[in-house]
Amino acid sequence: MTERDTSKPAIETALIHHPYRPPAAFDAPQPGVFKASTVIFANTAAMRARDWKSKAGYTYGLHGTPTTFTLEERIATLEGGTHTVLVPSGLAAITLTDLALLKSGDEVLIPDNAYNPGKELARHELARWGITHRFYDPMDANALAAMVTPSTRLVWLEAPGSVTMEFPDLPNLVRAARSQGALVALDNTWGAGVAFKAFDLGVDVSAHALTKYPSGGGDVLMGSVTTRDAALHLTLNAGHMRMGWGVAANDAETVLRALASLPLRYAAHDRAARTLARWWAQRPEVVQVLHPALPDSPGHAHWAALCTQAAGLFSVVFDARYSVAQVDAFVDALKLFKIGYSWAGPVSLVVPYDLKVIRPKAAWHGTLVRFSLGLEAVDDLIADSEQALTALMR
Ligand SMILES: *Cc1c(COP(=O)(O)O)cnc(C)c1O
Repeated sequence: MTERDTSKPAIETALIHHPYRPPAAFDAPQPGVFKASTVIFANTAAMRARDWKSKAGYTYGLHGTPTTFTLEERIATLEGGTHTVLVPSGLAAITLTDLALLKSGDEVLIPDNAYNPGKELARHELARWGITHRFYDPMDANALAAMVTPSTRLVWLEAPGSVTMEFPDLPNLVRAARSQGALVALDNTWGAGVAFKAFDLGVDVSAHALTKYPSGGGDVLMGSVTTRDAALHLTLNAGHMRMGWGVAANDAETVLRALASLPLRYAAHDRAARTLARWWAQRPEVVQVLHPALPDSPGHAHWAALCTQAAGLFSVVFDARYSVAQVDAFVDALKLFKIGYSWAGPVSLVVPYDLKVIRPKAAWHGTLVRFSLGLEAVDDLIADSEQALTALMR
């Protein structure tokens, strides 16, 4: 066997350690996608000087890449905050907030109409770790003021409540939470940074399911935790790092691509939802339409004091004379509305809920159906709803 000339690398090596570097001056409408677990340091001095807390450099894929830093900065701007960390889902944004800010012996207060998986986290993991919780009525700020104690470390807000859509008096809830020094975290998924500015209300943390409007496609799971306070961000970021929650570059890129059209999509979903909600308000089959922009929806005045826009989401409560099976038949008869959780994508979605199970103390009885408006023509969605109602009568 002849000796290989080692003055030139073998093909295996050359394909890995190729000398070509594309010119750095490249620009395009979309930022590049940088995929990395390993981040390469120029030398040992650079490696030793690394600082995972600083966005001036890179340490490891989990701690940030140009792609995730860019998305974090844009989400911070969307929310009106200064610092954002990305997590693998909206639920993980709630989890990170709880785990980074709470310790054994602390109490967290959660609205009784909040996104249910966040309540389940409190009932199970938080409880096992000695973090207590109570659920409060978000429509009664005085009751919250009476509930907070010095051991209340964190108060969650959500506006409006998941599924039942009551819009709370956010400024007074923040005041009540603050009265004993608790931190305030808002689940800002519905407002999406568009309907109202969370940090102007004095919240400390905004958790956002980027899965919804920022992605807008029904094809990405991601969440963010945003603050306007450097020390609080450091606490969240350190917890984020130690718990090892990264997001994939391709997912970050998908959200970056969709973010530019978020305000336009939000307005379109809003218009469609209000049109269909008003149509439902005229229907004799339902006793209540729950959409914060409708005058007789709970908390409408609080919504109107803060917002002109609303997400493309509403619920209707069917008259109690209709059985669960009849309402299920209506849902099954819908053709354009698909049965599925989540929202804010192009496809309209519908989910039936039993009010007795999700809100035993609610003022209404019967079966609730939640609609998430996609981007189809609203006339077609009205026609679909109307034809499906014939299934209710069978
Ligand atoms: C969807 C949603 C979440 C969770 O988001 P995932 O990315 O699905 O985990 C949290 N809060 C609210 C209000 C949501 O609607």
